[in-house]
Amino acid sequence: MAKTTENNPSNKRTSCKRGTPKGVNLLREPFLNKDTAFTEQERDSCGIRGFLPPYVLSQDEQVKRVMENYHKRATPFEKHIYLRSIQDSNEDLFYRVVMDNVTEMMPLIYTPVVGQACQEFSHIFEKPRGLFITPKDKGKIADILRTWPQKDVRIIVVTDGERILGLGDQGADGMGIPIGKLSLYIACAGINPAQCLPVTLDVGTNSEAKLNDPLYIGIREKRLRGQAYDDLVEEFIVATQEVFPEPLIQFEDFGNTNAFRLLTKYRDRICTFNDDIQGTGSVIVSGLYSAMRITGGKLEKQKILFQGAGEAGTGIADLIVAAMIEEGLSEEKARQQCWFVDSKGLVIKSRTDLAEHKLPYAHEHKPVTDFLSAVEALKPTVIIGASAQPKTFTQSIIEAVSKINERPIVFAISNPTSKAECTAEEAYKWSKGRAVFASGSPFDPVTLNGKTFVPGQGNNAYIFPGVGMGAIACGAKRVTDEMFSAAAKALAGEVAESDLEKGRIYPPLSMIRHLSAVVATATAEVAFKRGLTKKRKPADIVAFMKSQMYDPKY
Ligand code: NAD
Repeated sequence: MAKTTENNPSNKRTSCKRGTPKGVNLLREPFLNKDTAFTEQERDSCGIRGFLPPYVLSQDEQVKRVMENYHKRATPFEKHIYLRSIQDSNEDLFYRVVMDNVTEMMPLIYTPVVGQACQEFSHIFEKPRGLFITPKDKGKIADILRTWPQKDVRIIVVTDGERILGLGDQGADGMGIPIGKLSLYIACAGINPAQCLPVTLDVGTNSEAKLNDPLYIGIREKRLRGQAYDDLVEEFIVATQEVFPEPLIQFEDFGNTNAFRLLTKYRDRICTFNDDIQGTGSVIVSGLYSAMRITGGKLEKQKILFQGAGEAGTGIADLIVAAMIEEGLSEEKARQQCWFVDSKGLVIKSRTDLAEHKLPYAHEHKPVTDFLSAVEALKPTVIIGASAQPKTFTQSIIEAVSKINERPIVFAISNPTSKAECTAEEAYKWSKGRAVFASGSPFDPVTLNGKTFVPGQGNNAYIFPGVGMGAIACGAKRVTDEMFSAAAKALAGEVAESDLEKGRIYPPLSMIRHLSAVVATATAEVAFKRGLTKKRKPADIVAFMKSQMYDPKY
């Protein structure tokens, strides 16, 4: 029978209520459809007797059938397409399958497989999901949002497709990302699917391959830039706040110039965050806290050298600086612990080509052109690859950082797997098993000289679903960096000694519902402490979060 928590769709799973679609339309509504699990009574009251084969299946039996078909799909990409087709016909069944097999399916519905799904989105396109907004819709965006059938939208993931994972400009094909990301909000933190809206601002693409592809689904124009772009985003943001109950807007996979600008412009105006910047910062800082339980150092003593000074790299550094300040360091000293190498070499004061977000990390130093020389010159305790340049953590680099440190911390977070700076096996082999390694995309355990290492995946999914859930559940007016710091600490607190013994600095993803509740609680606690909520503080925040979580059982 229907669950009736505030965050749970209660109009589902009952015999037909007034306003619920009937007949074949019910079977075409993924929020309501139960397919062969509609009971005898529902088949009569909803006018679907005859549309379904006579035998009534339980959801467990349906799950068995889905899994049987899932295993018949030979490749991860085919599995992705199959799962998405289930999502489009029966949301509860899709989420039941995903939640029951979350560790296995997370890489299929999000990174790395979603990367290929975006690259081929126009070619595998079957059914629309979410909203596409183009420059032609200027002046009409609120009207378009009003046509969305769900009125209680609480979270919107929006992309403009310019920097999809590490795969560059995918234009309208980037829609795979908001869809996939929202699936994780729902599967990991139990946000109600009916409260989620994926949006692509299709402002054109500079990818010639897309523009020349006859099956490309987007507008065939070069990217909109300048004031016209800003005006479109502004109209979209204002419309979301007017049409829906002040939803959380999560910016995703924008090119870095726009990403930083838009975050700065909107973070103090509405409830918003950028996961590529802040979520990444949080999950990687959490990984550092856990890594230091293995290496024995303190955060303020770490010298961190980044390859890649984009959204991920500087987002991580900003949160590290905040955490170091909390430990008593001055801001200046904290920034001095973070160094960057970008495509032009070491980020230093004398350079005149630096974007604004890199300036706080431009230190006094003589020019260094490559990462290996930077490692040798700066002697970092931690190296973090966030450049989307595959194979750039070479054997010489891993050996160099292993010479400097007994237990070097090596994070190769570029996604998808094909873009990783090095593999888990390379990091362990070249460091002779001494590296504390984490990656962005998952790697299998590695056995070296009889010892098995389990690489941690610094998956943003440890953080953003919980932060989203926490923000929505307490009616947060803003999402702040302090919330991401609290989330990082809360997640690190869940890493067991038994995980660390295997080299794993994140808890198993199978615990994700619990972890998301913990992160949601940490987020909400900051919101309540800072007076940033629209709701009253519940007596038991964890229990409250858990009670809000969507359960896909019929
Ligand atoms: P971005 O485009 O904002 O930044 C990329 C940076 O890499 C730029 O500063 C660029 O100058 C630099 N770069 C390019 N070539 C380089 C080279 N040869 N040497 C050194 N630097 C070079 O992208 P981003 O948002 O920062 O994302 C970077 C990567 O991190 C992507 O692959 C993304 O998928 C990944 N990422 C992973 C996670 C995670 O695993 N948790 C989270 C966010 C981003």
